[in-house]
Amino acid sequence: MSDKPMHFETACVHAGRQVDPVTGAVAPPIHLSTTFQRSPDYGADPYNYVRGNNPNRAQLEACLAALEGGAAAFAFASGSAAATAVFQSMKPGDHVVCTRDAYHGILRILREIMAPWQLKVSLVDASDLDAVRGELTPATRLVWVESPTNPVLKITDLAAVADIAHRAGAIAVCDNTFATPALQNPLAFGMDLVMHSATKYLGGHGDVMGGGLVARETGPLADRLRILQGNGGAVPSPFDCWLVLRGTATLSVRMRAHCESALVLARRLEAHPAVECVFHPGLASHPQHALAARQMRAFGGMLSFCVRGGADAALRVASRVKLFTRATSLGGVESLIEHRASVEGPESPTPKNLLRISTGLEHPDDLWADLEQALA
Ligand code: PLP
Repeated sequence: MSDKPMHFETACVHAGRQVDPVTGAVAPPIHLSTTFQRSPDYGADPYNYVRGNNPNRAQLEACLAALEGGAAAFAFASGSAAATAVFQSMKPGDHVVCTRDAYHGILRILREIMAPWQLKVSLVDASDLDAVRGELTPATRLVWVESPTNPVLKITDLAAVADIAHRAGAIAVCDNTFATPALQNPLAFGMDLVMHSATKYLGGHGDVMGGGLVARETGPLADRLRILQGNGGAVPSPFDCWLVLRGTATLSVRMRAHCESALVLARRLEAHPAVECVFHPGLASHPQHALAARQMRAFGGMLSFCVRGGADAALRVASRVKLFTRATSLGGVESLIEHRASVEGPESPTPKNLLRISTGLEHPDDLWADLEQALA
């Protein structure tokens, strides 16, 4: 192989993978063993006990680090477990500035688990850089953003937020679940950590739960995360690692199709009389379209829209779809539609007439025909 850096498409297929040196197997073998034979002097063996490390996890972590351009990666049992490890890397009394548009489960972790642990949290609209600056205190150690956000696809200026955090002596972390490394590499904008729910596009087929962190640098933060991962124990099984690694092989081609179809649907929805507004960063009408175009290679497979006539009208549309499935989650091959406020619960700030779409890999004309009949 040449020394030239691989293109992203090539890295998706090859990073972390090699032909098995023992059997010649081209697809990676799954190693279910929970323990590994040690060398006679109990020296620095690569594997020891499954929770600490194992071959399938090592392959997945090498792949994630390569795709995000980081120095180290950490696979977790879920995106939520990965996020919790980041918060646990803080000390009680530390202050976190978090986008108020973060995935509602992340906000719940901060509220229900980390606040009683004495982590101080301020929520902010991270698309407003002055507001982010305004929340910093001498105790701020972490700025957490998500871009695009769930469900209204707000965009955060990642380079600016990383700079603001660093000047305050804090680390900057981006939940890159919606964009995936195919569309955006937050570490390249100066972020210190990237977080993923691998349950979504990385796994890509709606059949595995997982999470990941990628660190820009090795050092004390990465060392701490390794302890929180291996000793905290919220780790994925070898089979789950194998499934996510299998998913990443097709990430670049899947994302291309998700993005193309989402843009087709967003444009057609925007022109439909029963639709009040559409949220998708690829639309010229999106307030941060220019920032998204600068920061992302394409605009993603997620979109949301508000139906004229309120919550009842939105629920009626969701009840009429035939090809879309009414379900939460995202990033799989099937298109999903959800009434987000119902999923988030009674305290949800999401408009009650909003429906969120995860665009799958079906033909966009078939998806549009389904939406059109549901909106009629
Ligand atoms: N971040 C985002 C943007 C998400 O959408 C989700 C789940 O929906 C998570 C994090 C949490 O991931 P998991 O469900 O794998 O714990």
